[in-house]
Amino acid sequence: MPEKLRTANRKRRSKEPIRLRTNMDTVIYTIYENNPNPPEMEKLGEIIKNGGLVAFPTETVYGLGGDGLNPESSKKIYAAKGRPSDNPLIVHIARMEDLGVLVREIPETAVKLAERFWPGPLTMILNKSDAVPKETTGGLDTVAIRFPSHKVAQELILSSGGFIAAPSANLSGKPSPTLAKYVLEDLNGRVDAIIDGGDIPIGLESTIVDLTGETPVILRPGYITKEMLSEVLGDVLTDPTILDGNCKERPKAPGMRYRHYAPKGDLVVVEGKSDEVVSRINEEVSKAADAGLRTGVIATKENAVFYNRADSVKIIGSREKDEEIAASLYRILREFDDENIQAIFSEGFSEEGLGVAIMNRLLKAAGHKTINLWEDA
Ligand code: AMP
Ligand code: MG
Repeated sequence: MPEKLRTANRKRRSKEPIRLRTNMDTVIYTIYENNPNPPEMEKLGEIIKNGGLVAFPTETVYGLGGDGLNPESSKKIYAAKGRPSDNPLIVHIARMEDLGVLVREIPETAVKLAERFWPGPLTMILNKSDAVPKETTGGLDTVAIRFPSHKVAQELILSSGGFIAAPSANLSGKPSPTLAKYVLEDLNGRVDAIIDGGDIPIGLESTIVDLTGETPVILRPGYITKEMLSEVLGDVLTDPTILDGNCKERPKAPGMRYRHYAPKGDLVVVEGKSDEVVSRINEEVSKAADAGLRTGVIATKENAVFYNRADSVKIIGSREKDEEIAASLYRILREFDDENIQAIFSEGFSEEGLGVAIMNRLLKAAGHKTINLWEDA
Protein backbone atom coordinates (compact mmCIF):
# COMPACT_ATOMS: atom_id res chain seq x y z
CA MET A 1 0.00 0.00 0.00
CA PRO A 2 1.45 3.46 -0.85
CA GLU A 3 2.78 5.22 2.28
CA LYS A 4 0.38 8.17 1.81
CA LEU A 5 -2.66 5.93 1.83
CA ARG A 6 -1.38 3.93 4.76
CA THR A 7 -0.94 7.13 6.82
CA ALA A 8 -4.40 8.30 5.86
CA ASN A 9 -5.87 4.99 6.98
CA ARG A 10 -4.00 5.10 10.26
CA LYS A 11 -5.23 8.62 10.91
CA ARG A 12 -8.82 7.73 10.15
CA ARG A 13 -8.65 4.66 12.35
CA SER A 14 -7.43 6.65 15.34
CA LYS A 15 -10.43 8.96 15.05
CA GLU A 16 -12.95 6.19 14.70
CA PRO A 17 -14.96 5.16 17.76
CA ILE A 18 -13.94 1.89 19.35
CA ARG A 19 -15.39 -1.03 17.41
CA LEU A 20 -18.93 -1.88 18.46
CA ARG A 21 -19.70 -5.28 19.92
CA THR A 22 -22.55 -6.87 18.08
CA ASN A 23 -22.15 -10.52 18.89
CA MET A 24 -23.92 -10.90 22.24
CA ASP A 25 -27.30 -12.41 22.92
CA THR A 26 -29.18 -9.60 24.60
CA VAL A 27 -31.81 -10.86 27.04
CA ILE A 28 -34.80 -8.65 27.87
CA TYR A 29 -36.47 -8.62 31.28
CA THR A 30 -39.63 -6.71 32.14
CA ILE A 31 -39.43 -5.29 35.68
CA TYR A 32 -41.67 -2.45 36.85
CA GLU A 33 -41.38 -0.23 39.92
CA ASN A 34 -44.40 -1.87 41.59
CA ASN A 35 -42.37 -5.10 41.94
CA PRO A 36 -38.78 -3.91 41.65
CA ASN A 37 -36.97 -6.89 43.15
CA PRO A 38 -38.11 -10.13 41.47
CA PRO A 39 -35.82 -13.22 41.66
CA GLU A 40 -34.22 -12.30 38.28
CA MET A 41 -32.64 -9.24 39.89
CA GLU A 42 -29.97 -11.36 41.52
CA LYS A 43 -28.90 -12.74 38.13
CA LEU A 44 -28.82 -9.24 36.64
CA GLY A 45 -26.62 -8.06 39.52
CA GLU A 46 -24.28 -11.01 38.87
CA ILE A 47 -23.91 -9.98 35.22
CA ILE A 48 -22.60 -6.58 36.33
CA LYS A 49 -20.40 -8.05 39.08
CA ASN A 50 -18.85 -10.31 36.43
CA GLY A 51 -17.99 -7.37 34.18
CA GLY A 52 -21.08 -7.47 31.94
CA LEU A 53 -23.49 -4.72 30.87
CA VAL A 54 -27.17 -4.24 31.76
CA ALA A 55 -29.40 -1.40 30.47
CA PHE A 56 -31.97 -0.29 33.04
CA PRO A 57 -34.68 2.32 33.66
CA THR A 58 -34.12 5.37 35.85
CA GLU A 59 -36.43 8.33 36.52
CA THR A 60 -34.50 10.46 33.96
CA VAL A 61 -33.74 8.21 30.94
CA TYR A 62 -32.64 4.58 30.41
CA GLY A 63 -29.03 3.93 31.51
CA LEU A 64 -26.36 1.54 30.22
CA GLY A 65 -24.80 0.07 33.36
CA GLY A 66 -21.54 -1.64 34.23
CA ASP A 67 -19.45 -1.96 37.42
CA GLY A 68 -18.24 1.59 38.12
CA LEU A 69 -15.20 0.38 40.05
CA ASN A 70 -14.03 -2.00 37.30
CA PRO A 71 -12.00 -0.29 34.56
CA GLU A 72 -12.75 -3.10 32.09
CA SER A 73 -16.50 -2.55 32.52
CA SER A 74 -16.14 1.15 31.76
CA LYS A 75 -14.15 0.36 28.61
CA LYS A 76 -16.96 -1.97 27.54
CA ILE A 77 -19.54 0.79 28.09
CA TYR A 78 -17.65 3.17 25.80
CA ALA A 79 -17.31 0.45 23.17
CA ALA A 80 -21.00 -0.54 23.30
CA LYS A 81 -22.13 3.09 22.85
CA GLY A 82 -19.41 4.12 20.41
CA ARG A 83 -18.69 6.90 22.91
CA PRO A 84 -15.35 8.77 23.03
CA SER A 85 -13.48 7.57 26.13
CA ASP A 86 -12.72 11.11 27.34
CA ASN A 87 -16.44 11.61 28.08
CA PRO A 88 -16.80 10.49 31.72
CA LEU A 89 -19.54 8.29 33.15
CA ILE A 90 -21.87 8.97 36.08
CA VAL A 91 -21.52 6.51 38.99
CA HIS A 92 -24.90 5.54 40.47
CA ILE A 93 -25.31 4.57 44.13
CA ALA A 94 -28.30 3.40 46.16
CA ARG A 95 -27.16 3.98 49.75
CA MET A 96 -26.09 7.35 51.16
CA GLU A 97 -23.17 5.72 53.00
CA ASP A 98 -21.63 4.57 49.70
CA LEU A 99 -20.89 8.17 48.70
CA GLY A 100 -17.83 8.14 51.00
CA VAL A 101 -16.25 5.27 49.03
CA LEU A 102 -16.14 7.35 45.83
CA VAL A 103 -14.80 10.70 47.04
CA ARG A 104 -11.81 12.15 48.87
CA GLU A 105 -13.98 14.26 51.13
CA ILE A 106 -17.67 15.10 51.30
CA PRO A 107 -18.14 18.88 51.27
CA GLU A 108 -20.96 20.49 53.28
CA THR A 109 -22.62 21.53 50.01
CA ALA A 110 -22.90 17.87 48.94
CA VAL A 111 -24.43 16.88 52.27
CA LYS A 112 -27.07 19.60 51.95
CA LEU A 113 -27.94 18.73 48.35
CA ALA A 114 -28.10 15.00 49.11
CA GLU A 115 -30.45 15.61 52.03
CA ARG A 116 -32.78 17.63 49.83
CA PHE A 117 -32.61 15.99 46.38
CA TRP A 118 -31.38 12.39 46.75
CA PRO A 119 -32.64 9.96 45.77
CA GLY A 120 -33.43 11.96 42.61
CA PRO A 121 -32.37 13.48 39.29
CA LEU A 122 -29.29 15.36 40.54
CA THR A 123 -25.66 14.47 39.73
CA MET A 124 -22.84 15.97 41.82
CA ILE A 125 -19.23 16.34 40.66
CA LEU A 126 -16.75 15.78 43.51
CA ASN A 127 -13.03 14.98 43.87
CA LYS A 128 -12.65 11.26 43.33
CA SER A 129 -11.06 8.71 45.67
CA ASP A 130 -8.56 6.08 44.54
CA ALA A 131 -11.39 3.52 44.42
CA VAL A 132 -12.73 5.10 41.21
CA PRO A 133 -10.72 4.13 38.12
CA LYS A 134 -9.71 6.80 35.61
CA GLU A 135 -11.45 4.78 32.90
CA THR A 136 -14.77 5.62 34.58
CA THR A 137 -13.98 9.34 34.87
CA GLY A 138 -12.54 9.78 31.38
CA GLY A 139 -9.13 10.51 32.91
CA LEU A 140 -10.39 13.24 35.29
CA ASP A 141 -9.63 13.52 39.02
CA THR A 142 -13.28 14.25 39.68
CA VAL A 143 -16.24 11.87 39.64
CA ALA A 144 -19.93 12.38 38.82
CA ILE A 145 -22.28 10.70 41.32
CA ARG A 146 -26.04 10.20 41.44
CA PHE A 147 -28.49 8.34 43.70
CA PRO A 148 -31.49 7.64 41.43
CA SER A 149 -35.01 7.43 42.84
CA HIS A 150 -36.27 4.76 40.41
CA LYS A 151 -36.89 1.61 42.47
CA VAL A 152 -35.73 -0.80 39.73
CA ALA A 153 -32.47 1.15 39.32
CA GLN A 154 -31.93 1.03 43.09
CA GLU A 155 -32.43 -2.74 43.27
CA LEU A 156 -30.06 -3.34 40.37
CA ILE A 157 -27.38 -1.15 41.97
CA LEU A 158 -27.71 -2.99 45.29
CA SER A 159 -27.65 -6.45 43.72
CA SER A 160 -24.55 -5.58 41.66
CA GLY A 161 -22.36 -4.44 44.55
CA GLY A 162 -23.40 -0.80 44.94
CA PHE A 163 -21.68 1.20 42.18
CA ILE A 164 -23.02 1.27 38.63
CA ALA A 165 -21.35 3.49 36.03
CA ALA A 166 -24.02 4.40 33.52
CA PRO A 167 -24.36 6.84 30.66
CA SER A 168 -27.63 7.07 28.76
CA ALA A 169 -28.44 3.80 26.96
CA ASN A 170 -28.29 5.13 23.39
CA LEU A 171 -25.66 4.95 20.68
CA SER A 172 -23.48 8.04 20.86
CA GLY A 173 -25.13 10.92 18.96
CA LYS A 174 -28.71 9.57 19.23
CA PRO A 175 -31.36 10.96 21.61
CA SER A 176 -31.34 9.39 25.08
CA PRO A 177 -33.88 6.55 25.23
CA THR A 178 -37.13 7.08 27.13
CA LEU A 179 -38.61 3.72 26.08
CA ALA A 180 -37.05 0.23 26.20
CA LYS A 181 -37.75 -0.30 22.50
CA TYR A 182 -35.26 2.47 21.68
CA VAL A 183 -32.64 0.85 23.94
CA LEU A 184 -33.15 -2.39 22.03
CA GLU A 185 -32.91 -0.57 18.69
CA ASP A 186 -29.54 0.94 19.66
CA LEU A 187 -27.94 -1.73 21.84
CA ASN A 188 -29.27 -5.13 20.77
CA GLY A 189 -26.25 -7.44 20.57
CA ARG A 190 -24.06 -4.94 22.43
CA VAL A 191 -25.22 -5.52 26.02
CA ASP A 192 -25.96 -8.65 28.04
CA ALA A 193 -29.42 -7.62 29.20
CA ILE A 194 -32.03 -4.87 29.00
CA ILE A 195 -34.58 -4.21 31.74
CA ASP A 196 -37.83 -2.88 30.29
CA GLY A 197 -39.28 -0.74 33.07
CA GLY A 198 -41.99 0.92 30.98
CA ASP A 199 -42.34 4.68 30.64
CA ILE A 200 -39.74 7.01 32.09
CA PRO A 201 -41.21 9.78 34.27
CA ILE A 202 -38.86 12.73 33.53
CA GLY A 203 -37.42 12.07 30.08
CA LEU A 204 -34.36 14.38 30.25
CA GLU A 205 -30.97 13.56 31.78
CA SER A 206 -30.11 14.60 35.35
CA THR A 207 -29.00 18.07 36.39
CA ILE A 208 -25.20 18.10 36.85
CA VAL A 209 -23.71 20.41 39.47
CA ASP A 210 -19.96 20.79 39.98
CA LEU A 211 -19.12 21.16 43.69
CA THR A 212 -15.32 21.14 43.37
CA GLY A 213 -14.87 24.92 43.08
CA GLU A 214 -15.67 27.79 45.42
CA THR A 215 -19.14 28.36 43.96
CA PRO A 216 -21.34 25.50 42.69
CA VAL A 217 -21.71 25.50 38.89
CA ILE A 218 -24.49 23.86 36.86
CA LEU A 219 -22.82 22.00 33.98
CA ARG A 220 -26.01 20.49 32.58
CA PRO A 221 -29.55 21.74 33.33
CA GLY A 222 -32.23 19.22 34.26
CA TYR A 223 -35.32 18.62 36.36
CA ILE A 224 -33.63 20.08 39.47
CA THR A 225 -33.51 23.74 38.48
CA LYS A 226 -31.09 26.51 39.37
CA GLU A 227 -33.76 28.05 41.61
CA MET A 228 -34.13 24.79 43.54
CA LEU A 229 -30.35 24.50 44.02
CA SER A 230 -30.04 28.15 45.07
CA GLU A 231 -32.66 27.64 47.76
CA VAL A 232 -30.29 25.19 49.43
CA LEU A 233 -26.86 26.61 48.53
CA GLY A 234 -27.33 30.33 47.89
CA ASP A 235 -25.10 31.42 45.01
CA VAL A 236 -25.11 28.98 42.08
CA LEU A 237 -23.54 29.69 38.67
CA THR A 238 -24.50 28.26 35.28
CA ASP A 239 -22.02 27.16 32.62
CA PRO A 240 -22.48 29.94 30.03
CA THR A 241 -22.44 27.50 27.11
CA ILE A 242 -25.75 25.90 28.13
CA LEU A 243 -28.06 28.04 26.02
CA ASP A 244 -25.65 30.23 24.06
CA GLY A 245 -24.58 28.60 20.79
CA ASN A 246 -22.09 31.44 20.12
CA CYS A 247 -20.36 31.22 23.50
CA LYS A 248 -16.59 30.97 22.99
CA GLU A 249 -15.92 29.05 26.22
CA ARG A 250 -15.60 25.26 26.32
CA PRO A 251 -18.36 23.48 28.29
CA LYS A 252 -16.94 22.04 31.52
CA ALA A 253 -18.83 18.74 31.20
CA PRO A 254 -16.93 16.94 28.43
CA GLY A 255 -20.16 15.36 27.14
CA MET A 256 -21.71 18.77 26.50
CA ARG A 257 -18.97 19.46 23.92
CA TYR A 258 -20.15 16.78 21.52
CA ARG A 259 -23.03 17.25 19.12
CA HIS A 260 -25.71 15.16 20.73
CA TYR A 261 -29.34 14.27 20.29
CA ALA A 262 -29.21 14.93 16.56
CA PRO A 263 -32.23 13.87 14.50
CA LYS A 264 -31.56 12.74 10.91
CA GLY A 265 -33.63 15.63 9.56
CA ASP A 266 -32.66 19.27 9.69
CA LEU A 267 -34.20 20.86 12.81
CA VAL A 268 -34.87 24.59 13.23
CA VAL A 269 -36.33 26.17 16.39
CA VAL A 270 -38.63 29.16 15.86
CA GLU A 271 -38.90 31.52 18.84
CA GLY A 272 -41.27 34.47 19.27
CA LYS A 273 -44.89 35.34 20.04
CA SER A 274 -47.12 32.28 19.71
CA ASP A 275 -49.21 33.43 16.70
CA GLU A 276 -46.15 34.73 14.86
CA VAL A 277 -44.35 31.46 15.46
CA VAL A 278 -47.28 29.55 13.97
CA SER A 279 -47.38 31.61 10.77
CA ARG A 280 -43.60 31.54 10.32
CA ILE A 281 -43.47 27.75 10.80
CA ASN A 282 -46.27 27.36 8.25
CA GLU A 283 -44.30 29.50 5.78
CA GLU A 284 -41.14 27.48 6.34
CA VAL A 285 -43.06 24.21 5.99
CA SER A 286 -44.50 25.35 2.64
CA LYS A 287 -41.05 26.34 1.39
CA ALA A 288 -39.56 23.01 2.42
CA ALA A 289 -42.47 21.07 0.91
CA ASP A 290 -42.09 23.00 -2.37
CA ALA A 291 -38.44 21.93 -2.35
CA GLY A 292 -39.66 18.32 -2.22
CA LEU A 293 -38.81 17.65 1.45
CA ARG A 294 -40.87 15.66 3.93
CA THR A 295 -41.78 18.07 6.72
CA GLY A 296 -42.51 17.78 10.43
CA VAL A 297 -43.56 20.16 13.21
CA ILE A 298 -43.03 19.92 16.97
CA ALA A 299 -46.13 21.70 18.26
CA THR A 300 -47.66 22.62 21.58
CA LYS A 301 -51.10 21.17 22.23
CA GLU A 302 -52.54 24.69 21.96
CA ASN A 303 -51.18 25.31 18.43
CA ALA A 304 -51.15 21.87 16.82
CA VAL A 305 -54.38 22.34 14.82
CA PHE A 306 -52.89 25.26 12.90
CA TYR A 307 -50.12 23.27 11.23
CA ASN A 308 -52.17 21.65 8.49
CA ARG A 309 -49.49 21.80 5.79
CA ALA A 310 -46.87 19.54 7.41
CA ASP A 311 -46.54 15.81 6.66
CA SER A 312 -46.22 15.02 10.37
CA VAL A 313 -47.29 17.11 13.36
CA LYS A 314 -46.24 15.91 16.82
CA ILE A 315 -47.84 17.31 19.95
CA ILE A 316 -45.11 17.67 22.56
CA GLY A 317 -47.45 18.74 25.38
CA SER A 318 -49.21 21.78 26.74
CA ARG A 319 -47.32 25.07 26.76
CA GLU A 320 -48.42 25.31 30.42
CA LYS A 321 -46.84 21.97 31.38
CA ASP A 322 -43.06 21.78 31.09
CA GLU A 323 -43.12 18.23 32.47
CA GLU A 324 -45.12 16.99 29.47
CA ILE A 325 -42.76 18.71 27.04
CA ALA A 326 -39.66 17.25 28.75
CA ALA A 327 -41.11 13.73 28.78
CA SER A 328 -41.99 13.73 25.04
CA LEU A 329 -39.03 15.49 23.39
CA TYR A 330 -36.66 12.56 22.79
CA ARG A 331 -39.43 10.19 21.71
CA ILE A 332 -40.59 12.73 19.11
CA LEU A 333 -37.08 13.22 17.72
CA ARG A 334 -36.77 9.46 17.25
CA GLU A 335 -40.23 9.22 15.66
CA PHE A 336 -39.28 11.81 13.05
CA ASP A 337 -36.21 9.68 12.24
CA ASP A 338 -38.42 6.63 11.78
CA GLU A 339 -40.74 8.60 9.47
CA ASN A 340 -37.80 9.92 7.43
CA ILE A 341 -38.80 13.52 8.00
CA GLN A 342 -36.21 15.77 6.37
CA ALA A 343 -37.18 19.28 7.54
CA ILE A 344 -38.35 19.70 11.14
CA PHE A 345 -39.56 22.94 12.70
CA SER A 346 -40.15 23.28 16.43
CA GLU A 347 -41.83 25.94 18.47
CA GLY A 348 -39.47 27.45 21.05
CA PHE A 349 -40.35 27.08 24.74
CA SER A 350 -40.00 29.19 27.85
CA GLU A 351 -36.50 29.31 29.33
CA GLU A 352 -37.70 29.40 32.93
CA GLY A 353 -37.28 26.54 35.42
CA LEU A 354 -37.37 23.16 33.66
CA GLY A 355 -37.59 25.11 30.37
CA VAL A 356 -33.83 25.75 30.58
CA ALA A 357 -33.19 22.00 30.29
CA ILE A 358 -35.78 21.57 27.52
CA MET A 359 -34.34 24.40 25.43
CA ASN A 360 -30.75 23.22 26.07
CA ARG A 361 -31.56 19.77 24.60
CA LEU A 362 -33.71 21.15 21.78
CA LEU A 363 -31.11 23.72 20.71
CA LYS A 364 -28.38 21.08 20.78
CA ALA A 365 -30.52 18.79 18.63
CA ALA A 366 -30.93 21.71 16.22
CA GLY A 367 -27.21 22.47 16.21
CA HIS A 368 -28.39 25.91 17.49
CA LYS A 369 -30.26 26.70 14.27
CA THR A 370 -32.97 29.16 15.29
CA ILE A 371 -35.27 31.78 13.80
CA ASN A 372 -35.70 34.43 16.45
CA LEU A 373 -38.81 36.55 15.86
CA TRP A 374 -38.33 38.44 19.12
CA GLU A 375 -35.18 39.97 17.65
CA ASP A 376 -36.97 40.85 14.39
CA ALA A 377 -39.77 42.61 16.29
P1 AMP B 1 -24.69 10.76 30.26
O1 AMP B 1 -24.08 9.72 31.10
O2 AMP B 1 -24.85 10.34 28.85
O3 AMP B 1 -25.90 11.34 30.88
O4 AMP B 1 -23.61 11.90 30.29
C1 AMP B 1 -22.95 12.18 31.50
C2 AMP B 1 -22.53 13.61 31.49
O5 AMP B 1 -21.83 13.89 32.70
C3 AMP B 1 -21.59 13.95 30.34
O6 AMP B 1 -21.94 15.22 29.82
C4 AMP B 1 -20.25 13.99 31.06
O7 AMP B 1 -19.32 14.76 30.36
C5 AMP B 1 -20.63 14.56 32.42
N1 AMP B 1 -19.65 14.21 33.44
C6 AMP B 1 -19.43 13.00 33.98
N2 AMP B 1 -18.41 13.04 34.86
C7 AMP B 1 -17.96 14.31 34.89
C8 AMP B 1 -16.93 14.97 35.60
N3 AMP B 1 -16.15 14.33 36.45
N4 AMP B 1 -16.75 16.30 35.37
C9 AMP B 1 -17.56 16.96 34.49
N5 AMP B 1 -18.56 16.37 33.80
C10 AMP B 1 -18.77 15.07 33.98
MG1 MG C 1 -26.00 10.65 27.05
